[in-house]
Amino acid sequence: MSISVQHLHKHFNGFKAVNDVSFSVEDGEFVSLLGPSGSGKSTILRCVAGLEIPSSGQIMINSEDVTHIPVEERNVGFVFQHYALFKHMTVFENIAFGLKVRKIPRKERDEKVKQLLELVGLTGFEGRMPSQLSGGQRQRVALARALAPEPKLLLLDEPFGALDTRLRKVLRSWLKKLHDRVGLTTLLVTHDQDEAFELSDRILVIHQGAIQQDASAKTIFNEPATDFVATFVGETNRVEGMVRHGLVEWGPFKFIPLTNLKERTKATVLFRPIDVYVSSQKEKEDEVPGTIQSTRFLGALEELHIKLNDGDFILIAQIPKGVAHESGFGVGKKVYVKVTSFHVFGKIRVN
Ligand code: ATP
Repeated sequence: MSISVQHLHKHFNGFKAVNDVSFSVEDGEFVSLLGPSGSGKSTILRCVAGLEIPSSGQIMINSEDVTHIPVEERNVGFVFQHYALFKHMTVFENIAFGLKVRKIPRKERDEKVKQLLELVGLTGFEGRMPSQLSGGQRQRVALARALAPEPKLLLLDEPFGALDTRLRKVLRSWLKKLHDRVGLTTLLVTHDQDEAFELSDRILVIHQGAIQQDASAKTIFNEPATDFVATFVGETNRVEGMVRHGLVEWGPFKFIPLTNLKERTKATVLFRPIDVYVSSQKEKEDEVPGTIQSTRFLGALEELHIKLNDGDFILIAQIPKGVAHESGFGVGKKVYVKVTSFHVFGKIRVN
C-alpha cells in the first residue's frame, strides 16, 4: 500500500504545526519521521491515520484520495506510545478485539490470534492479563492487536518510547525482521536517531513542521542537506569560519566549500568527531598541532577535547578506545589533528 502526502498544512489556532509537507511512501517501504519534540511528526502521522483533519493538502492511500475519509475506513493499523491495552481483557482477547468488531467467525478469529501470538513470540501467554506482562511484552501485544485486522499500512508513533534502552533494541530488531517478513508499508515517528537508522529504508527529517531532508540514513548522515540536519543527526563540531579567497577559514584550518560562497561572510562548518584524525606525530603537512584538554569515556569510543596551539580554538575528536590507549592520548598530550570530512553551509555568491 502506498501513501502520497501533498502540500499538507495543519494549523492549531493559527499555529502552524505542519507547514507544506509533501512526501510519498512506496508499497512495502519502511519510512521514519525523525525530528525533535514538537516538530510536527505526530501531527503528520495522525493526519495520515485520519485522526486529525488537515487544514489543507491532500492524502492519498493507494492512489485514492482519503483526505476526508474517516479513520475506520482507511484500513490502517496504529500503535502509539501510550496506546494502552484493554486492562480487563486477556492477551488473547486484546488481540482478537478488532476481529470481533469486524464480526469475523470464531474459528477463523482463534486461528488468526494463534498465528499472531506466534509471530510476536508470545505463544503460551494468551491467558495472561496485561498487568502480568513486561513492558516489552505489552508492546508486542499492542503490535499484534494492530496487525490482527490485516491492515495494509502500519503507523507507529514512538511505539517503544516508554521502554529501557536494551528492550528498545530487542524490539527494534524484532520489528525489522517482522517488517521484512510481512512486507507491510510502515510509517514510524521517532526522535531516536538510532531507531530511525536501524529500521528505515528512508528517513524524513522534520523541523518546525517542515521536511528538512528526505533520504536514506546513509545520505542523511554523510550528506546532510541543512545545518539543522547535520546538527540533529549524530554528534558534530559546529564552528563559524570566514570566507576568504573562496575558502572558509577557521583558525589554522582552511575548508574548501562545494559552492561559491560570498567573500567576507561567515559560513558554518560542521564536522563529526569521528572525522577528526588524531596522531602523536606530524605525518602530513596539513596536520595542526594541539593539546588534549580533557577526555570523555563513551564505551567503545574515547572522546578527546583538543585545544589548538594557534588561537583559541577547541575541537572534539572521537577515536576507538584501543587506539586512544595505545597512543597514550591523555590530558596534556601534544597531538596533531586533521579534519577528514566536513560540510559547509553559507551564503552562496550570486554572480
Ligand atoms: P513529540 O516528539 O514531542 O511528540 P512531535 O514532533 O510529534 O513532538 P506534534 O505532536 O506533532 O510534535 O506537535 C507539533 C506542534 O503542534 C507542537 O508545538 C504541539 O504543541 C502542537 N500541537 C499538537 N497537537 C495540538 C493540538 N491538538 N492543539 C494545539 N496544538 C497542538
